[in-house]
Amino acid sequence: MKPTDLSLVSTIRERCRVCYTCVRECPAKAIRIAGGQAEVIPSRCIGCGSCVLVCSQGAKRVLSSVEDVNGLLRSGARVAACVAPSFPAEIGDRDVRHMVGSLRKLGFSLVCEVAFGADLVAHAYRELLAQRPRDTFIATACPAIVNFVERYHPDLMPHLAPIASPMLATARALRARYGADTKIVFIGPCIAKKGEAATLTGEDRIDAVLTFRELRDMLGSAGIGTSEVILSDFDPPRAGLGGVFPLPRGSLQTAGIDEDLTCNDVVSADGRAAFPEALQEFSAGALNVHLLELLCCRGGCVMGAGMSVALPPFARRAHISRHVQSQRASFDRAAWSTEMDQLHDLPIGRSFQTASQTLPTPSPDEIRTIMIEMGKFGPDDELNCGACGYDTCRAHAVAILRGLAEDEMCLPYTIERLKKTVQKLDLSNTKLASTQQALVQAEKLASMGQLAAGIAHEVNNPLGVVLLYAHILLETCTKDSTQSKDVAMIVEQADRCKKIVSGLLNFARQNKVVLLPTRIADLVERSLRGVAVPAGIEVVVEHQDPAASADVDADQIRQVLTNLLTNAVAAMPAGGRLIVRSAVNDEQVLLAVADTGVGIPKENMKRVFEPFFTTKQMGRGTGLGLAVSYGIVKMHRGNIRLKSNADLSAGPTGTTFTVTLPRFEQREESTSFLAPEDEAPKDAR
Ligand code: ADP
Ligand code: MG
Repeated sequence: MKPTDLSLVSTIRERCRVCYTCVRECPAKAIRIAGGQAEVIPSRCIGCGSCVLVCSQGAKRVLSSVEDVNGLLRSGARVAACVAPSFPAEIGDRDVRHMVGSLRKLGFSLVCEVAFGADLVAHAYRELLAQRPRDTFIATACPAIVNFVERYHPDLMPHLAPIASPMLATARALRARYGADTKIVFIGPCIAKKGEAATLTGEDRIDAVLTFRELRDMLGSAGIGTSEVILSDFDPPRAGLGGVFPLPRGSLQTAGIDEDLTCNDVVSADGRAAFPEALQEFSAGALNVHLLELLCCRGGCVMGAGMSVALPPFARRAHISRHVQSQRASFDRAAWSTEMDQLHDLPIGRSFQTASQTLPTPSPDEIRTIMIEMGKFGPDDELNCGACGYDTCRAHAVAILRGLAEDEMCLPYTIERLKKTVQKLDLSNTKLASTQQALVQAEKLASMGQLAAGIAHEVNNPLGVVLLYAHILLETCTKDSTQSKDVAMIVEQADRCKKIVSGLLNFARQNKVVLLPTRIADLVERSLRGVAVPAGIEVVVEHQDPAASADVDADQIRQVLTNLLTNAVAAMPAGGRLIVRSAVNDEQVLLAVADTGVGIPKENMKRVFEPFFTTKQMGRGTGLGLAVSYGIVKMHRGNIRLKSNADLSAGPTGTTFTVTLPRFEQREESTSFLAPEDEAPKDAR
């Protein structure tokens, strides 16, 4: 596996709430949001652990080395624990010797200070700067900075100081002193060290890297408590001043290099925001310095993501200072110098590997297209709110084009889309409600129709007998006699009953439709002829195409028109205008009957199609005209709608009934809308 493929940090999907904080905090933009999930891209990750520190949900998992270390300790090999100089910030007020004793108890044969490696490294820096006074260098103790330069600033790689990190220098020193077979476990505050270790092989091998957090877990699991530990000191070689390395400018102080503000020869920057800026300026040639000391964590390594304590930055720093001070008090300079001299020939160099992750820069046109898709049409729409994790809308658009981000990460855009979705839902909800209402109405009419049909069917036969005998009786009566007048009344009323019954049967579609090509204008004319229109009513007929014809049952549609016309006339007792309109297209024919009459009050609108609903005087209306018309229209697979105003204060009163019918006969049989099983046989059509 290439070191760049190593997954130093990964996302625990179930815990990730996609708040984009990790995206915002990642200096390498190594977190991709895909399918609404944050995913760390191993090849882009520099291992700084910023995402681990900021994730409030604990959704970032750090690559664990606990199993590897347990394996090493069980193997019987000589295993050296190399403790990073930031340990005083981790142990706080506890005795250093307790920590060393705990590590020995855990099974480490040697417990050494990486601060000694830092002393070696500081010495090497001093020499390098003295030997190459005209060159500019980027200090390389921080593996996250090295990773960043290798990935995102390959142009600056020649400036990386070719000096080993304190970890590597310590490993080399320990192998020189204790034997090449010594296993090295680095213990520190840094996740990126795990990545650095993966790049080291052979004599330089680091066998495992533990974070302080992992160490604390291991000690906990092993049940190593305060009382059982034998206090112990570090194994030699002991450190000198290297203990301040984990603080900003610590390496400079150890090397005796002055960050003299008047010369601007040496510049130091720390933190995920400051170091990329420093590198950017350095790359642009704006930082003309001899040495650039960079630490990825703001406040130095003591703030690393592998620390297990929650102390504030300056308290951590104070612990480091206190430890180095107390060490100085008992510092054996002669012994230290001897150790340093013995390692005089120890190689302290290192090399770097380019791992460029620079992505192509999208064109302004591509960026504009993405911005427009997110509803950002001009500078005013670019809020640069940072909610997506990118500093600007433009940076977000670039990330989308590079496959690192999604448009849904834009909060204003997502809110806008949600609003539109809510509006759409609202609309379909309203439509659904009205469809439901129509369905209820249709069901009501259907059940009434079935009831009416049943009664009509039963009444039809006895009524026929009554009529037949009444007629016979009428013939036997003396003309103009009282008896004859009474029987004539029986005949007249029985006839009326017969009409009502046949109306009911029509409504329930006991009749079948026979569709034949019919000229619409003729149909309208014949219907109008059958209705007595008083003089006060002006009749207007408008045909969009006077020659148009349609496949309809002429008798039945004439009945519909007659009903509508009769009602319209009845609604205009004081006169008015009666307008009949027709229109056709390829699929439909439209017939409208409009009047300027009294209108239908709102509360009656729903009821007018019900059988027997009438507002007319007893004997004048049956309340069947519209019910029958509705049935006929439905039998034609058409629709009948009405618009009416009965309120003078709301405008001119009047009613318009609009009938739409399919213009040409459809393949399938015309089925009854009330009783689907009661279909018309083909030969009856
Ligand atoms: P009927 O005419 O026997 O009363 P209909 O079914 O034809 O029965 O009509 C039902 C009711 O609808 C009428 O009584 C009337 O109240 C109302 N109506 C129908 N058409 C109109 C119209 N054009 N203007 C006003 N009211 C109407
Ligand atoms: Mg009527």
